[in-house]
Amino acid sequence: MPHPTPAVRDRILTLAPTELPAYVYDLTALREHAAHVRAVLPEPVELYYAAKANPESAILAALAPYVDGYEVSSGGELAHVAEAVPGRPLAFGGPGKTAAEIRAALERGVERFHVESEHDLRVLAELARQVAPDTRVGVLLRFNLAVADGSLAGSALAMGGRPTPFGLDPERAPDVLRLLTDGTHPHLELRGVHAHLASGLDAPQQLSVARSIVEWATGLGVPIAEVNVGGGMTVDYTRPEILFDWQAYGKGLTELADAHPGLTLRIEPGRALTAYCGWYATEVLDVKRSHGEEFAVVRGGTHHLRTPATKGHDQPCSVLAVEEWPYPWPRPAAEGERVSLAGQLCTPKDLLARNAHAPGVRAGDRVAFALAGAYAWNISHHDFLMHPRPGFHFLDRTAGGV
Ligand SMILES: *Cc1c(COP(=O)(O)O)cnc(C)c1O
Repeated sequence: MPHPTPAVRDRILTLAPTELPAYVYDLTALREHAAHVRAVLPEPVELYYAAKANPESAILAALAPYVDGYEVSSGGELAHVAEAVPGRPLAFGGPGKTAAEIRAALERGVERFHVESEHDLRVLAELARQVAPDTRVGVLLRFNLAVADGSLAGSALAMGGRPTPFGLDPERAPDVLRLLTDGTHPHLELRGVHAHLASGLDAPQQLSVARSIVEWATGLGVPIAEVNVGGGMTVDYTRPEILFDWQAYGKGLTELADAHPGLTLRIEPGRALTAYCGWYATEVLDVKRSHGEEFAVVRGGTHHLRTPATKGHDQPCSVLAVEEWPYPWPRPAAEGERVSLAGQLCTPKDLLARNAHAPGVRAGDRVAFALAGAYAWNISHHDFLMHPRPGFHFLDRTAGGV
């Protein structure tokens, strides 16, 4: 059971029941984590944060001292991130960019475009000619590479080397590279290659993927200044105490960088940077038995924290006991050790954790769901059933904040 940090625990216990559910973020813990990640990465590695994992402004700002830039994948993220962390380098990627989004990105002077197709390239070239005729726009070509040794096999969300809407097929490389090197598109500058091939990889798998991408990119026969090897560093929701081995990853990237002097390596993690700093806290409303199993129904549910439903896992959690009980009748309480934690939605899919270790949990107790700092609130279907939205608390012990 992962336990909330003391600051998070105190906040959860001081909120009134009506202020729950709440997302509580420990920005100090986030800073410490990001500082560690930055410290173990070698100098030529640039660290970008993939904003889609959690675009809360306070999170983007807390990460600012430790990241080199932000990866955005829509016009909405672009405008939001540019406002939250003004002046920071942005990389704009994603399939299906509209002309309006590309134009907005050019007008903002976005540093890097991750080009996903030949059409994407042509639209960018045409708009660059119109919007920024006196500059050359930096392009990374995103390729959907097949990684040779099957290292993606066990990953949660593999999207490389199989049919997907992402990136260019590697066989298109010669033709597309020609468009960027024969003067066809003078407003674009080929900077290198981008690949984001899977999510949920441990450090040895990530290194193997990174080596394959760099080897492929540097063998293309054109000057490659940068390779972005993507994100996807694993977060283990079943064993939350096991963290991605940033130290080993940094060591491996050092060797890779040493083997390619002058090459800038870039990574763009999302989940593994912010997942651990966020907690979804709520209150048990009722406890009941159904056909031999015990259920605790909590305020809120998967419309606020969709992660367990989308990933098909049990969100790690811990119970915070509360002694007050406002009613004259006995508190509903679990008889056993294992209790499924369900939300308020009228669908059997609204399960946050099945058979969680919550011995004797009672109505009125509080539950803190861990690893809720990434792909949590911002991927959830908030309006389903029209329950109130959660509160948001950004705890900041270093800056004298709230
Ligand atoms: C989602 C995404 C990321 C971040 O992935 P994580 O699994 O959160 O680390 C990075 N790059 C691209 C292109 C993405 O789509």
